[in-house]
Amino acid sequence: MKVDLNEILRELSEMYDEDSFDTYVTLYLKKDALDQKFLERREKACRSLLKGDEKKNFTDTMESIREFIKKNVSANIAIFASHKYNVLKTVSLPVEIDNSLIVDSSPYIRPLARIQDEWESFTLVLLSSNYAKIYSLSLGEIEYEKNLSKDIMNRHKKGGCSQARFQRLRKGAIHAFLTEVVEALEKIADKRIVLAGPGTSKIQFRDMLPKYLAERIVDVIDISIDDEKELLKESVRLISEREEKKSREAVQQLKEEILKDGLVAYGAEETLQAVKNGQVELLIVEKDYKIKGWICENCQIVKEGSVKECPYCGGSVSEVDVIEEILEFAERTDADVEFTDDEEITDLGHIGAILRYK
Ligand SMILES: [Zn+2]
Repeated sequence: MKVDLNEILRELSEMYDEDSFDTYVTLYLKKDALDQKFLERREKACRSLLKGDEKKNFTDTMESIREFIKKNVSANIAIFASHKYNVLKTVSLPVEIDNSLIVDSSPYIRPLARIQDEWESFTLVLLSSNYAKIYSLSLGEIEYEKNLSKDIMNRHKKGGCSQARFQRLRKGAIHAFLTEVVEALEKIADKRIVLAGPGTSKIQFRDMLPKYLAERIVDVIDISIDDEKELLKESVRLISEREEKKSREAVQQLKEEILKDGLVAYGAEETLQAVKNGQVELLIVEKDYKIKGWICENCQIVKEGSVKECPYCGGSVSEVDVIEEILEFAERTDADVEFTDDEEITDLGHIGAILRYK
């Protein structure tokens, strides 16, 4: 089954309990942490701080989380759960994320958003004149593959028809085969396609693709058909290099927009305002930075800094990472997110956005 992280992040970003700060449990767990004391210790600490319905919800939620973990011990996982809302969402992760257990009014999505940014899914087409394999890769793993092959006449005729007629027939057969591959690809193509194989078939194939698919090709690799393993590694590497380049370009774009006072917001306060209004096209976030802030239980206002009670309505407040709050708004409004460790983002207030409108 295809894991659509975009879809999952969107769903998670829409989960929010207005009545309680302590409804959703988020757990990121390394596979080798399963037999350690991490979970037990955090669970005990959190439980001791909760009361009444919130405590009961936490206990029930942890029970279903434990049940899931027991059956899935062999992966790095992220779990988002709430017994109260009957939610248990789980994702196996391609890399280890620091263990964390968080109890909050909404799922904690930042580490997952970063994985989504760094591990883009793509389609890989490995192709020769009579053989094709199409792979869907997601989170660095093969999720689906389809084999196609056809008996195409050998390059050299063995008698019978004339050389010219033989070549015509052979060309026709190759064209028919590649057409089949195009049709198969149309059904499953991701937003990014890598094309690979020996010789010129892949170029002929590229020229046969409808425009909308041709535009999705991010790389063409010349490689022998036997090197499948090598090819998979190489294509994952290419896609991750491309990701790094994209995040550098995003910071450049942000800088240029700031210089010409264009469609841009930067710094926590301005970016938060823009993302709340649904203005953000592309959000750019410094990788590991957190901004201490608060959210009001009553009016849902989020601000940087710390206060004892909401200065607007006197409601009680809870401490938040302002960047996490911004990310949740971004996912809800279909903004793209780029994580970066470029120093320039630090100087611009750790976070910024390219806007759809102003
Ligand atoms: Zn308030």
